[in-house]
Formats: sequence, C-alpha cells, structure tokens
Amino acid sequence: MNIVLLGPPGAGKGTQAKVLSKEFGLLHISTGDMLRNAAKRGDGIGKKAAGYIERGELVPDEIVVSLVVSRISQKDAEKGFMLDGFPRNTKQADILSLALEQKNKKLDLVLYFSTSEKVSVERLSGRRVCRKCGSNYHVKNMPPKKEGICDACGGELYQRPDDKEETVKNRLKVYDKETKSLIDYYRSQGLLREINGDMEVGDLFGVIKAIFVKEGLDG
Ligand code: AMP
Repeated sequence: MNIVLLGPPGAGKGTQAKVLSKEFGLLHISTGDMLRNAAKRGDGIGKKAAGYIERGELVPDEIVVSLVVSRISQKDAEKGFMLDGFPRNTKQADILSLALEQKNKKLDLVLYFSTSEKVSVERLSGRRVCRKCGSNYHVKNMPPKKEGICDACGGELYQRPDDKEETVKNRLKVYDKETKSLIDYYRSQGLLREINGDMEVGDLFGVIKAIFVKEGLDG
C-alpha cells in the first residue's frame, strides 16, 4: 500500500510513520530527512537546499521531485511506502500521480493529521533530535532519561535550527499558503481520511490501524 501523510509541521506524521513502518513493513520516505542528510553531506542537492530549509521555505520542486521519484522506484519501495512531507503543493502532487501511473501504481490513502497551530508550535519548539541515530524527544512531553543525551544510542541531542520559534511560524505560514490546498485536492479524489494529530501516539496508532482494516489495507 502506498500512503501520503499530510498535515502541518508538528502534527506527528514522522512519529507515526516510524511506528507504522515497523508494524506494516512500509518504507518511510521523509523528504525533510533526505534533504537534511544531503545538506549534511554537503553534496550538490544539499548545498542548494540548505538555505531554504534554514528559512523554513519550500525547496524548489525540481530538486524534491527528482529525489522522491528516484526513491519510489527503488526495490525496497515495491511493497509499499509512506510519504512524509511530500507532496507539499499541487504541482508536486500532480507529478507524483503521474510518476505512479507510469509505474502502474497508485496512492491508496492520504492520512490527514489535523492539529492546532498552538500544539504544532509547542511540539516543534520543544523537539530535540539525536545527532547520531535521529531519535526524537521533547523537552516536556518525552524527555530523555539524561538531559541532552539520547536514550537509544548515547548520542548528543540538538534542536533543529528550523525548530526555533520564528522559523516554525514561517513553516506554518508556508503550510497554509502552499500545502493546505492538498486537503481538498485529495478529498475530491476520495483518498483523504482525517485523523486527530493532537492524540497521544499509541491512541492515534490505534485509529490509523482501524482505518487500514476498514479499507482492507492491513494485509
Ligand atoms: P520537514 O522535516 O518535513 O518538516 O521538512 C523540513 C524542510 O525541508 C521544509 O521546511 C522544507 O524546507 C524542506 N522540504 C521537505 N519536504 C519538502 C517538499 N516536499 N517540498 C519542498 N521542500 C521540502
């Protein structure tokens, strides 16, 4: 099954994607992670993307689209994938459906994580990420056992520069302007299922599982 996780930054898409990929064996494709890794490596794509990410703006379509199209063509995507952070505008969505059509594939479902701006800002500004293994924490809601240190691997925790409050506000503005229209775009195709991103991780996972069962996508 091929799924898109849609919703504002901080709605919990990445957290659910990690749980769902374990449970259902779906490949988790996060364009944010791919772009950040490219920026860390300092390769051509990374150099082009870094400034946009820092400012909380969208990286140009042609860069992101080519990353995604080549990733979903790889063997490990055959069993199904979850796109987290892509598409972010209707142009990306149109290209995605065309690319899938050419591979005789389709989207099965779009999970729309609705959440309030207040919750998004609170989650993102308190988020801390492990430099080594990428595990996520939250200073209040999910603190590590030892401050600043990852429970899983002992790596150093840091705050993503684009999780600082000012940039978060800009990311939310960009979501409103560019990405929000995808709710109607996918609703009109009958693919959209709305879920409450404010729910606790385990409870929300239960809701998503029930949707998969109802849609016959759990096997
Ligand atoms: P995320 O981790 O999904 O919040 O993405 C972090 C940043 O990466 C965004 O603020 C954008 O700068 C960039 N980015 C991620 N996905 C996309 C996309 N589909 N289109 C354009 N830019 C993207």
